[in-house]
Amino acid sequence: MRILLLLAAAGGAVVIGSTWGWRWVLAPLLGWLFIRWAIGSLRSMAVGERTQAALDQPQPVVVEPAERTLYWCEDCGTELLLMTRGTGKAPRHCATAMHARDEVPRN
Ligand SMILES: [Zn+2]
Repeated sequence: MRILLLLAAAGGAVVIGSTWGWRWVLAPLLGWLFIRWAIGSLRSMAVGERTQAALDQPQPVVVEPAERTLYWCEDCGTELLLMTRGTGKAPRHCATAMHARDEVPRN
């Protein structure tokens, strides 16, 4: 059905273009494309704004863990506190893997 409508529109465009000139076909086509582009870009901006609003919503506060993980370097003694675990692998310092130590913080 859609193909038939498209073929009818193309036939009508050929008839109009060959009879009165192609500007009567191209101008409305360009206008239609411009309106579709404008509406699409406005709609994408509205979606982006909604996404940004969802990001701005307050996030739940991370509850202080009962146990925290520290990593220490055997060579130089550097210690670091793990805030967010990306992978299960230990970070490296002085070209060696750091050692993990779990601590229970005192309150
Ligand atoms: Zn080190």
